[in-house]
Amino acid sequence: MARVDAVIVGGGISGLWLLNLLAGRGYSTILLESARLGEQQTLASQGMIHGGMKYALAGRLTRASETISSMPGRWADCLAGRGPVDLRGLQPLSERYYMFADASTLGQLTGFFASRVLRGRIRKLETEDYPQPFADPGFKGVVYELQDFVLDARRLLLKLLEPVRNHAYQWRLSAGDICVRPNGIRLTLGETEIDAEHLILTAGTGNQALLDAMDIKEPVTQLRPLHQVLVRHSYPHPLYAHCLTGIRGREPRLTITSHPDGDGWIWYLGGQLATDGVGMSDSELIDHARAELDACLPWLNWDGATFSTLRVDRAEPAQSSGQRPDEAYASACGRCIVGWPTKLSLAPDMGDKVLALLPPPAEHPPVMLGIPLAELGQVPWSH
Ligand SMILES: Cc1cc2nc3c(=O)[nH]c(=O)nc-3n(C[C@H](O)[C@H](O)[C@H](O)COP(=O)(O)OP(=O)(O)OC[C@H]3O[C@@H](n4cnc5c(N)ncnc54)[C@H](O)[C@@H]3O)c2cc1C
Repeated sequence: MARVDAVIVGGGISGLWLLNLLAGRGYSTILLESARLGEQQTLASQGMIHGGMKYALAGRLTRASETISSMPGRWADCLAGRGPVDLRGLQPLSERYYMFADASTLGQLTGFFASRVLRGRIRKLETEDYPQPFADPGFKGVVYELQDFVLDARRLLLKLLEPVRNHAYQWRLSAGDICVRPNGIRLTLGETEIDAEHLILTAGTGNQALLDAMDIKEPVTQLRPLHQVLVRHSYPHPLYAHCLTGIRGREPRLTITSHPDGDGWIWYLGGQLATDGVGMSDSELIDHARAELDACLPWLNWDGATFSTLRVDRAEPAQSSGQRPDEAYASACGRCIVGWPTKLSLAPDMGDKVLALLPPPAEHPPVMLGIPLAELGQVPWSH
């Protein structure tokens, strides 16, 4: 009978991050992924590794903006080979992320952005430092540079997969596969049986069914739906920026990232647009997105652009208020650990929390299972 320290269930950012982290600490670990790695939330994400400035748009620092503020630095350490997970060689899609607004919007936020409490996290750019498309004379407003950067989610998962390729298997874990025993958890995967000291659930939206299967009542999953917009166009420049022009609430009006698509870029739009879009049909949201681009970037021309939309749920531990959680989550119930990073950026935080719940490795020999290895999924704009 094969025995491992941990079986990780779910191969998005959290599962693959943990597989690397635990392997690096000497744990024997395998991962089970029901479909293709990353294809639920992680490959649909905008890839921003952010320090929470977008949670400070009420003009003050909140707990959410503080917990996450160290994450860009922690990821930068990993990219430089100094972190708990080795991401050397992974080039960010963009080293910078920006925030912009027309000349009349910011009001009191201008003083807050310039205040000492935000030093090092946000910097107002001089006109000569503007990136495209703000370098266009048609732009009349202000641009800030944040400490954030953007990763290509697929290249990130590929990098994480490299050292653990033979430990990530394709298997949908279901109730009938799981037998909770006094000294661990036995999984029956077809003809293969494996004993795990711990079962770690990082299955995103799939965590709830597995918690139910083991009769674990807490935590409970909350889903926050988004309706994102994809824009294919011939404008030659990428854009990585939050638009604050005329913001109504605490969320950026548009959160824009750009992703390689053939010879050009596809712009991926989230933020308030994707939240408001949940109640809209695809065609209503596309009309709304065109109007928002015209309002936020009026000096650009969207004639000839093609628009499509993507519905995707964010999975998180339920909050009493239904709000988004402030930090990553991990908790243990017996030998089962369940986690949600809640944001791509918070994967290092989730890694810390899972490690704190595990005993030292038991030094089991490596295992090879007789089931297929999992394949890496594709980003939504490639299908
Ligand atoms: C549109 C969008 C944009 C986002 N943008 C950002 C951003 O820019 N920056 C940021 O910090 N965060 C962002 N996020 C949040 C971030 O993407 C998620 O918090 C993160 O990807 C969650 O990763 P995960 O590994 O927990 O879940 P997932 O990526 O959903 O992975 C879970 C995996 O578990 C598998 N699974 C499910 N059930 C089972 C089962 N029974 N057996 C085996 N496998 C199973 C699934 O197939 C899936 O591959 C965004 C989220 C969305 C939806």
